[in-house]
Amino acid sequence: MSPTAVFVSGANGFIAQHIVKLLIDKNYIVIGSVRSPVKGDELVANINSPNFSYVVVPDIGVSGAFDEALKAHPEVTVFVHTASPFRFDISDIEKELLTPAIEGTKNALQSVQKYAPQVTNVVVTSSFAAIGAFRQYEDPSKIFTEADWNPITWEASLDNAGDGYLGSKKFAEQAAWDYVKTEKPNFKLTTVNPPYVFGPQAFPIKNKKESNTSSEVVNALLKLSPSSKIPETHHLFVDVRDVAAAHISAFENPEAAGKRLFLASAPWSSQGIVNIIRKNFTELKNIPVGEPWKDNLYRSATYKFNNSKTIETLKVELLPLDTSIIDSVQQILEAK
Ligand code: NDP
Repeated sequence: MSPTAVFVSGANGFIAQHIVKLLIDKNYIVIGSVRSPVKGDELVANINSPNFSYVVVPDIGVSGAFDEALKAHPEVTVFVHTASPFRFDISDIEKELLTPAIEGTKNALQSVQKYAPQVTNVVVTSSFAAIGAFRQYEDPSKIFTEADWNPITWEASLDNAGDGYLGSKKFAEQAAWDYVKTEKPNFKLTTVNPPYVFGPQAFPIKNKKESNTSSEVVNALLKLSPSSKIPETHHLFVDVRDVAAAHISAFENPEAAGKRLFLASAPWSSQGIVNIIRKNFTELKNIPVGEPWKDNLYRSATYKFNNSKTIETLKVELLPLDTSIIDSVQQILEAK
């Protein structure tokens, strides 16, 4: 029997590169979509396997975006849709965040149903942003689970780029579940809903200055000076290697079909990350001390969660924050 072929959209992304790497390690055939041949060629060089190839899909938000790619690859039986804009340096929320996220998801599902009826599973990378984390929802007694939906409205998501991102993930995920409900396609749908994803890049870092949005949280702390104020930011986290593995379990494990996999490991705060860096990288003299004890305060003020259903389905133990931070910092320091 020939190995399963998996299509991964946005294959050059932070999370997607780990998914592709793991799929190749597990002997799958992988077809990744990227926006340009330059990005595809870089990925081919890093992955260095005859089982990986790429197709160019310049904009997932354009109707029929994946049609040609799927017509050209009738061997694909699993579609993993990770591509979605995760950036805040934008000027038009609807055009740059909402439309590519929502239409991109619909386009992926439509192309699969129309041109790849042999696909058995579709996995969509959603987010904790689709579960909770909107301003008025920050209720300290609230425990977020797989059943929760962010109450953000379309109007509120047009307010600023941060809320635009929350809306983009909520409405894109809703569109995916609605599609399956109304169209009843051949495939089973699973979503993966992580909060902030930290951890090392899948391949050695070539450009220290530019990193994806969530990795930049850690990267930015490394650039502080001893007198810098540590940001008061805090939220939930999960390691990128756990997120990648969950995308694969999402189609390998029949129990994951039709579910939202809420993948959160633990709360984090910038002060807490600084504490981990200072303890493990004593050679870094630029990192400010801040107020180390405040980490507890921030972490207890962040979102409470119960993702036992997901943990039961996946039967995994998620990596702790210190492992994730130590591995990321080590990799950044090794970069030229
Ligand atoms: P990256 O920015 O590294 O990856 C995003 C990917 O989407 C890139 O390949 C990007 O292409 C592609 N993309 C964005 N917009 C378009 C578009 N209009 N047309 C085609 N491709 C597009 O981010 P992550 O790896 O962090 O994010 C991957 C997924 O995970 C996203 O769906 C994100 O919302 C979700 N997520 C991420 C979290 C995190 O903390 N990292 C947390 C929760 C969810 P290009 O590089 O060419 O721009």
